[in-house]
Amino acid sequence: MNSSKDQYPRLVIDLNKLRENLAALTGRCQDLLIEISPVVKGANALREVVRVMEEFSPRYLCTSRLDQARRMKAEGIQTPLMMIRIPGPAEVPEMVALCDASLNSDLSLLRAINEEAGRQGKTHAVILMQDLGDLREGFWHAEELIQAALEVENNLPHLHLLGIGTNLSCYGSIKPDKRNMQGLASLAQEVEEAIGRPLEIVSGGASTSVYMVLEGSMPYRINHLRLGEIILNGTSGTGNPDFLHQDVFTLQAQVSECREKPSHPVGQLGLDAFGKPRVYQDRGIRRRAIVNVGRVDYGDPEDISPRQPGVEVLGASSDHTLLDVADYPGELKAGDILEFGLSYGSTAFLCSSPSVHISYLS
Ligand SMILES: *Cc1c(COP(=O)(O)O)cnc(C)c1O
Repeated sequence: MNSSKDQYPRLVIDLNKLRENLAALTGRCQDLLIEISPVVKGANALREVVRVMEEFSPRYLCTSRLDQARRMKAEGIQTPLMMIRIPGPAEVPEMVALCDASLNSDLSLLRAINEEAGRQGKTHAVILMQDLGDLREGFWHAEELIQAALEVENNLPHLHLLGIGTNLSCYGSIKPDKRNMQGLASLAQEVEEAIGRPLEIVSGGASTSVYMVLEGSMPYRINHLRLGEIILNGTSGTGNPDFLHQDVFTLQAQVSECREKPSHPVGQLGLDAFGKPRVYQDRGIRRRAIVNVGRVDYGDPEDISPRQPGVEVLGASSDHTLLDVADYPGELKAGDILEFGLSYGSTAFLCSSPSVHISYLS
């Protein structure tokens, strides 16, 4: 991550648009007494991005990785951290040292975290995760979660049972809806009856749950969301609210070659650089450009979208992106800069690529 000027590829991050996205979402959620914990993974916990999130004084910042947690602490981030990837046993000591809270779904892990927290003289807050059908983390039977809650509450003195939560729209692509959110709300009530006190947090998921807040269908009992994509990219799998900026992040790449060539490769087709057979459309001779950024930097070329008209992404190797620019108005030549909008996935890759220069608009 380098920031010298006039170096490409460059990732330009508009901190003011990010701030406006956060303000818009925070306002709408606050109206319904829903607390937001911003998730830093989509921007690889870049300091400037995290600082904007901190301006909103969240109770927690969410991270999925210990290296990000370590870096945020070293950079002076004061907000307590919540680990949102259920910790592996080997991660427990450092996780307890760096994070004040975590999502959990395994009793043996909870016992290990309790012991470690005791050793470090800390109280660690936990949110127990219930799997509501997406098949990623979480207890499957409600009774199991209730038993775990009782054990945390009564027998694990260095843990604080902060609440329960769920994760959707991930592996199983299950959409948050009234049915599964109401299920989570009912489970919260059962846990509260079992432990004899209210839970602070009932965490109803991630960006894909926001649409329910906006349409007013989120059950009253859900009072917490962990939000990444919709803050950073203004998008989610369940809708792109029109009051959010979708251009907080812009990739700028420099043209290194531009000339006319056939649109269909010439010779015997084998496999591409990634060992895959590919299909090419023959559109005759077309003007093509190459920009010096590739899959190693952003992942999938389908996840970047040209901002200039008349530019189309054809494909990419690890280090190059091939563009059709036949319909580009004007003369494109080596040295020119083209801009691309980004998806959540490509944003996460670009924020982590050591070859990408990052600059900020504020
Ligand atoms: C990544 C993640 C989130 C945030 O998801 P977005 O879609 O970016 O809002 C929330 N919770 C967990 C457990 C996650 O892993």
